Amino acid sequence: MNNERTDYLEEPAAADDIGELRRQLDELRDRHQKLEVRVAEYQDLLNRNPATGLPIRRLFDAELGQALSGAASRGRGRLLAIGLLRLDGDYARIKNSRDRNRVLLYKTADRIREIVGDNIYQSDRLDEFLLIFRDMPNTDGVELRADQIVEAVSRFHEAPADDIRFGCYLGISVYPNHGKTREELLGNADIALIESERNGTPFVLYGDEMGVRYREREYIETELKLAIQSGFEGLDLHYQPLVDGDGRIRGAEALIRWDHSGLGRISPSRFIPVAEEIGAVRFIGQWSLYRACRQLKQWHAAGLDDLYVSVNLSPSQFKQVDLVERIGGVIESVDLPGRCLTLELTETTVMEEPEEAIAKMKDLQSMGLRLALDDFGTGYSSLSYLRRFEFDTLKIDRSFITNVDMNPHDQEIVRAMVAMARAFGMQTLAEGVERREELEFLMENGCDLVQGFLYSPAVAHGEFLALAESGVSGAS
Ligand code: C2E
Ligand code: CA
Ligand code: CA
Repeated sequence: MNNERTDYLEEPAAADDIGELRRQLDELRDRHQKLEVRVAEYQDLLNRNPATGLPIRRLFDAELGQALSGAASRGRGRLLAIGLLRLDGDYARIKNSRDRNRVLLYKTADRIREIVGDNIYQSDRLDEFLLIFRDMPNTDGVELRADQIVEAVSRFHEAPADDIRFGCYLGISVYPNHGKTREELLGNADIALIESERNGTPFVLYGDEMGVRYREREYIETELKLAIQSGFEGLDLHYQPLVDGDGRIRGAEALIRWDHSGLGRISPSRFIPVAEEIGAVRFIGQWSLYRACRQLKQWHAAGLDDLYVSVNLSPSQFKQVDLVERIGGVIESVDLPGRCLTLELTETTVMEEPEEAIAKMKDLQSMGLRLALDDFGTGYSSLSYLRRFEFDTLKIDRSFITNVDMNPHDQEIVRAMVAMARAFGMQTLAEGVERREELEFLMENGCDLVQGFLYSPAVAHGEFLALAESGVSGAS
């Protein structure tokens, strides 16, 4: 209870001293008013994020709710849109290394406020803002606004932080095209934001095809987790022949296959990236590696004893600190000589942490393993790096091989790749050979191995064994 107030009530008032009573009443009113102001101030504080000074998400929800009912009653005409803006990785890095990041956050919010006025709110994350775009003439107008915001956020900051800049990603959904309720609009703005982050485009306007893709991806994610939990149900390895100039099968690339009861066969290009993103690719990778090695051991036992197997290694699999031990463990348990196993890595995989990658690669090679640079030509293709990495095999990407016999430009590139590989002591393997003319060009120009539908696609292990025993005939 409020003591002071009780004091006033208890004070004996002379009945005739009305003036005094009035004075006391005024004072009470005055106090009450001041209290109300303070309550409002407290409320305002509670409603704002202390770091950015922005109104919190609950207020966004309420405001958007009102704006939506207003828009619904006004009917068609000017557009209402919402945006979900997240600062990019450059901000995250600054955040960890600078104590002034709160100021930068505040200033960033201020820059956006200059464009959208009070229509900016703090999301649940500190580096994420919610925006309302009111009264837009059309989607072009929304995009123009988005452009302005992205530009404003991405500018260098002022001194003393004038060495700093970071960008953002922005997902936008428009009422009523992309949703009629707050939940729908927010959900779809979130999908657009994810798309924006994935593609590295600063802002993305939601589109229905995006939603379909997103939900399909979600479905794949759930089903993939289930498949892994149930002992890799529906997953299998197929093997594609790696063939030399004499048409002899020298090795097999292990390629994963997933036959899903509802969706049918799902391509690894669709589910491996999902597995990578959710961290499941390590389990899949370890499983593939073990199965491929065990399979090869069986082929060796069947008499194909100089066959090797080539296994794809995903970026996060390669990053595992105990990768070398894991792989050592697999070949030991299967009792396979290291030289029979090739690991396929892409440029992106090794470029992220080049020094660590080089050390790891040396360790793997010291166990006898061979390393192949997959999809060569599609990444950085930095020649100086190539020399330091010391791969054993260069796999020339299919995009240079398709119709190489008809394309002088690609011919030049392939010749240069083969020459360079030779100079660095690497062998070359051409991917995706589908036509005899392509094969002829490659053989004439000194390519060591080929793989492609011309000889055979990836096939189940039994079929592969039959091919390897009888020799591939696809080329003749
Ligand atoms: P990749 O490593 O570049 O594998 C070669 C892809 O080219 C395979 O696709 C193969 O079926 C396809 N291919 C082979 N010859 C031809 C041809 O003549 N023409 C055409 N058009 N395509 C050909 P696939 O099996 O769909 O695999 C796609 C990608 O998925 C692989 O590309 C690889 O990056 C990834 N992947 C597959 N299995 C695994 C795995 O076990 N682990 C990991 N981490 N990734 C895998
Ligand atoms: Ca590969
Ligand atoms: Ca490849």
